[in-house]
Amino acid sequence: VIPLFDSDGKPPETASVVVRVAVNQAIWRTLDYAWPAALGSPARGLRVRVPLGKGNKLTPAFVVEVLTSDQAARRNLKPVAQKLDHEPQLHEPLMRLGEWISHYYLAPLGMTLAAMVPAAVGAPARQEEVVSLTGADPNLAALGTRQRRAMDHLLEASRQGIGTITLQQLRLHSGADRQTVVSLVRRGLVALASRPVVLQDTQQVPQADEPVPNEDQLAAIAAIRDKLGKGFSATLLHGVTGSGKTEVYVRLIREVVAAGRQAILLTPEIALASQTLTRLVTRLPRVAVLHSGLSAAQRAFYYQQVRDGGADVVVGARSALFAPARNLGLIIVDEEHEGSYKQDSAPRYHARDAAVMRAVIEKVPVVLGSATPSLESLYNARQGKYDLVRLPRRVRGLPMPRLEVVHLRRELQGGVVEIIGRTLTLMIAQALDRREQVILLMNRRGYASYVFCPSCGWIMGCERCSRALVFHQATRQGLCHYCDHSAELPAHCPACDKKLLLFGYGIQRIEDEIQRKFPHARVARMDSDTMTSPEQFQQVLGQFSRRELDILLGTQMVAKGLDFPGVSLVGVASADTSLAIPDFRAAERTFQLIVQVAGRAGRGATPGAVVVQTLVPQEPAIRLAQTHDYAGFAAAELPARFETGTPPATRLVRLVLRDEDASVAQLAAAGLAKELKAALGARGVRVAGPQPCGVLRMNNLYRFEILLFAQKPGVVQQWLWPRMEELSRRLEAELVADVDPLQLL
Ligand code: ADP
Ligand code: ZN
Ligand code: ZN
Repeated sequence: VIPLFDSDGKPPETASVVVRVAVNQAIWRTLDYAWPAALGSPARGLRVRVPLGKGNKLTPAFVVEVLTSDQAARRNLKPVAQKLDHEPQLHEPLMRLGEWISHYYLAPLGMTLAAMVPAAVGAPARQEEVVSLTGADPNLAALGTRQRRAMDHLLEASRQGIGTITLQQLRLHSGADRQTVVSLVRRGLVALASRPVVLQDTQQVPQADEPVPNEDQLAAIAAIRDKLGKGFSATLLHGVTGSGKTEVYVRLIREVVAAGRQAILLTPEIALASQTLTRLVTRLPRVAVLHSGLSAAQRAFYYQQVRDGGADVVVGARSALFAPARNLGLIIVDEEHEGSYKQDSAPRYHARDAAVMRAVIEKVPVVLGSATPSLESLYNARQGKYDLVRLPRRVRGLPMPRLEVVHLRRELQGGVVEIIGRTLTLMIAQALDRREQVILLMNRRGYASYVFCPSCGWIMGCERCSRALVFHQATRQGLCHYCDHSAELPAHCPACDKKLLLFGYGIQRIEDEIQRKFPHARVARMDSDTMTSPEQFQQVLGQFSRRELDILLGTQMVAKGLDFPGVSLVGVASADTSLAIPDFRAAERTFQLIVQVAGRAGRGATPGAVVVQTLVPQEPAIRLAQTHDYAGFAAAELPARFETGTPPATRLVRLVLRDEDASVAQLAAAGLAKELKAALGARGVRVAGPQPCGVLRMNNLYRFEILLFAQKPGVVQQWLWPRMEELSRRLEAELVADVDPLQLL
């Protein structure tokens, strides 16, 4: 082996150092580049830019390997153009996690690694202005009112031992603007300086009302605490709604931080806006909260704080899993059953499963919490892969809310266009009379499911998708929920000129009905059409918690993790919305949704009631949700999955072939399916299809799918990954791979 470097450590002029990089493109191969000596020494995990293709377009990439001189010999390689960081952004455990995600989820490595680092990371650190007293004796009488107020505040702060405060804080508390401060600087009373922004310790003095963990919580904490610092372990924390799982998380995180390590808490995006979480954050040491409302610069700031050890705890949605904590001690995934943990564009990873893998790599414990664990996690627990810890009761001896399932057909008067039946109407009226709050779930956006002509059967469809447009009231337009295309509602049927009708119910129609029936109630609607920013969530949830709202009407957004003691009634307008979708998880989703939303009721002094409206009251998912019978549901559903050979009995990989030309997509799918059957049939993989996707045409592309049900994880990937590059080039249609898919449309 020829040494790459001379004994003084510098690369000799002639030495050619070669790096292998993964580019942020749909390219599956890694590529080799010469490493110019001027860039210092290369390292795995560094971000660079490399010239790519004939045009030598500068393309972001990650160094994944520094080659030895043997491997690097005798080649005429293009040189790396730029180095983007001094130190690798991704340290070894995250590089390994990225490699696992790339292989397991069938995504190009460069794209996967790029998705793990916020784009703005590496920009110069943000600066903030800070103010401190110089110690000069102030002649307060000589100052103007504003100057005086600013000085009062600074003096008070310094009496409390705080020597320096940010200009922003000073402005907030005393109303002093920059000009006021500058005038105080001129008087020699204060100094104004600039420093890199650091994360403030938000932890407040332990509050008097901090809950004392009950017996169940103590047992759960003890069981998991035992595993801290002892390598990898996975625990499924199955706690009924209102059992105080958050308290268990808080205590565990504190232990981890006290031992000098960092913790990551993943939550669904919506939970980040809830008060529970805000309260939680004030009870933990230096927390970086990562959510979708952050600017690129803020995101990068938190990222750097975590990497440099300036944050002890990271709380965030999906991508917080990639927080560069270098001293990790614990990962917690709250509401582990949540579908939003699955990313729906490449890399299509599931943050819960990737969290377990990160815990394996980092040799730390991971805790998955839920009131309705996914059957995947339950099955893992039954297999002995996860330890099961339970919180079977609600805190403070609160009863589980009582569920009443009502048959909608018997509840409505014939001929009346309504969806809030007699029972639910009456109970809402009673709750409002008692000044209690109501949460109402309708898990379907829009006003009406579609617009049609009763005379000739014409349906207003999307011109880009094989789906009907959903009628939206506010815009009086049809909107496609698959591609966002919208169209004006025609005055008459474009085919026969007759009158058009609306069919089906969406949340907006229910909002109308509520306003008609309870004109004095203060109602807010919470769905992805009204909630377009995280601030809006926070605002509505704030109003609801201050009791400035009586009824919170929403899609599945209102089912998640909300804790409002004023809510005595929860109504499910239609339990059937998710049952109708052709998906082997339809029953599981329905059960989870009902149990979760029901869990929002009765968290305060008054016991909670829940009314579930349905057209199919005998459906097991609904019957079992009525008694919060998770065990019963699992006992019925899990064997059914084994009978049909669907997850978690098997591992599913879904391949979609799409093209503007239907026959091109279909032919490509048929050819690939044949190939897969020949190659994988003998390895315990059942190949189903090709068949048209549930939504045949989406966004102008025709789609055909192949479903691969494997007995063992990884079998399909092992065969497919090394062939993705070649297949993508050879197949006429675009190939999309989704491993452990949650959406089967
Ligand atoms: P879960 O996530 O299990 O549904 P939460 O963690 O939201 O439940 O807790 C529900 C409520 O109970 C919160 O308001 C919390 O502050 C409170 N709480 C938690 N533990 C206790 C306890 N041991 N005693 C009294 N109240 C508690
Ligand atoms: Zn017509
Ligand atoms: Zn569309």
